[in-house]
This record gives sequence, structure tokens and C-alpha cells, in this order.
Amino acid sequence: MSIWTVDSESVLQFPASFVFSTLKDVGVWRLFRGGRWRQVSGGAQRYIEALAEPMRECISLGTRVERVRRESDHVVVVTNHPPTNEPCEQRFDEVIFAINADTALTLIDNPSSDERQTLSAFGSTKHSTGITHDERVVAGYRNGSEPAFMHVDVHRPSGKGNAQTELKAGFFDLRRLFRLQLKDPLFLWYILTDQPCPKNFFATFDYATPVFSATAFEAQQKHPRISGVNRLHFCGAGWENGLHEGGVVSALKVAKHFGKSLDEVTK
Ligand SMILES: Cc1cc2nc3c(=O)[nH]c(=O)nc-3n(C[C@H](O)[C@H](O)[C@H](O)COP(=O)(O)OP(=O)(O)OC[C@H]3O[C@@H](n4cnc5c(N)ncnc54)[C@H](O)[C@@H]3O)c2cc1C
Repeated sequence: MSIWTVDSESVLQFPASFVFSTLKDVGVWRLFRGGRWRQVSGGAQRYIEALAEPMRECISLGTRVERVRRESDHVVVVTNHPPTNEPCEQRFDEVIFAINADTALTLIDNPSSDERQTLSAFGSTKHSTGITHDERVVAGYRNGSEPAFMHVDVHRPSGKGNAQTELKAGFFDLRRLFRLQLKDPLFLWYILTDQPCPKNFFATFDYATPVFSATAFEAQQKHPRISGVNRLHFCGAGWENGLHEGGVVSALKVAKHFGKSLDEVTK
């Protein structure tokens, strides 16, 4: 289902109550009644800049966290710093994971049994995403129409007899969607696979988005049992509805642990 960018089989695992309440939260019903979504003037980059401003010198971009190790009175984060990718150890009082729960589990040294049980209940799906000017990449999906975004199922031979794999793919026509004053077309294209994007992309990104199941919903309820308990905190969209708003709501819960709220950011 396109709203969660997951394949059709995975979305059938989502409880109906969750699907309907999320559609309500994101305002889909209002659209049918003539409501309108609002846009952040200048695009999402504007609020990223505002949020990053007070902590600019503490942000390390392009730095992969390899391990997180708890010591008796602190936490050690092991990263690979570009360009050398030499391992680097940094010491912190507490650590907040803002990634998919199943990925967080792969980074923690000696997770507790509660952490292991809760975090492993979540799933995620990988996407290759790329940006291109090349209209040919999306031409096959368009079927004569010119939608600003589109999600489709792509059937590919799986190499086993006549079997086919079904992949979810799609594109966003960024020039139309964001009314960009550009001479050339600009598309964001994605496919649900960990295969790399085709070559005609000038920027590519790998994402993992949450996939929900009954066990993941049960695990969401166990958040207080592991988050903030032993110097580690967990947030990310997967702890809520899997969408951007879910990421914010889950982050606010962790911020509350430190006595922080949204009011302080918006002052
Ligand atoms: C193509 C596409 C379109 C989407 N469209 C929408 C939409 O229109 N609306 C919507 O609400 N949602 C949309 N989503 C879903 C949306 O991306 C997620 O809901 C949201 O980004 C999740 O936020 P998050 O903070 O939980 O995780 P993320 O945004 O995935 O952030 C996690 C970050 O952690 C980084 N990371 C992971 N592992 C490590 C590591 N070991 N070390 C260091 N960094 C690491 C990742 O690189 C990433 O930057 C879309 C997703 C995709 C793939």
C-alpha cells in the first residue's frame, strides 16, 4: 500500500483499526470532504535547518554507527568516520536510537532479553531510491497519463522456472509535486529491494521503512520496558504509525524523559 511504501502482502498483516486510525490522523478522510493539505513554505529543508541550528556543531553527517556498548556508568558509540572509515569510540551518558527497531538491535552489544525480544518483533523493508532527470525511467509506469506520483507492482522473473517476484516501485515527479521552476524533469524513483538503482541516477539513497505485524504492535506497547531503562532510548516512526508524524510523536516521548517538549523548540 503506497501510504506505507510496503508491498501488498505485507500491508494485509496490518490490523484494520491501525490502518483506519492512521488514515484519519494523516487527514485522508478530510481530503474526500474537500479539505486541503498544507505545505511547509520552502519545503521540509526549512524545518530541518531550524531544528539543526542549536546543535549544528554536534551533528556528524555520513557517519555510520557500528556498535553501541554499555559500560557501568556510560555508553560507548563506535562509529566509522569518513573519509578514512577508521573506527572511532565516543563516550556518552545516554544514547537515543532514532532508527528502525530491528536495526537498533543489530547495533547493541549484549542486549537485555527484554530488548532482544521487543526489538526483534519489528520488521523493516529495504528500498533503493534514486533521483534522475531521465524521463525514460518512469515512462513505462505512466500508461499515457501524467500523475505527479505513482506506485506500481513490478513483476520480475525470480530465476526459478516461471516464478515471478513482485516488487513495489514508484516515482515522484518532484518538479510538478513541489512546483519547482526547473527546465529539466526531476524524478525521485524507488523500488522495494536492496538491489542498487540503475546507472542513470545522479544521487541514490538506501532506506529501510517499518513493516507492521501483530507482534510488532504488541512490541510497541513494551516501549516503556526498554526505553530509558538502561541508558538507551528508542524512537523512530516504527514505534507509532510508520510515517513522518509517527517519527515526531515517538521522538517527543523520548524527549519527555529528558524534560524537553516541542514548546521549547518552537519558542
Ligand atoms: C520513497 C519513500 C517515500 C516516503 N514517503 C512518505 C510520505 O510521503 N509521508 C510519510 O509520512 N512517510 C513517507 N515515507 C516513510 C518515511 O520515510 C518514514 O516514515 C520516516 O522517514 C521514518 O522516520 P524515522 O526517523 O523513523 O527513520 P528514517 O527517516 O529512516 O531515519 C533513520 C536514519 O538513520 C540512519 N541510520 C540507519 N542506520 C544507521 C547507522 N548504523 N548509523 C548511522 N545512521 C544510521 C538512516 O540513514 C536514516 O537517515 C516514505 C518512505 C520512502 C522510502
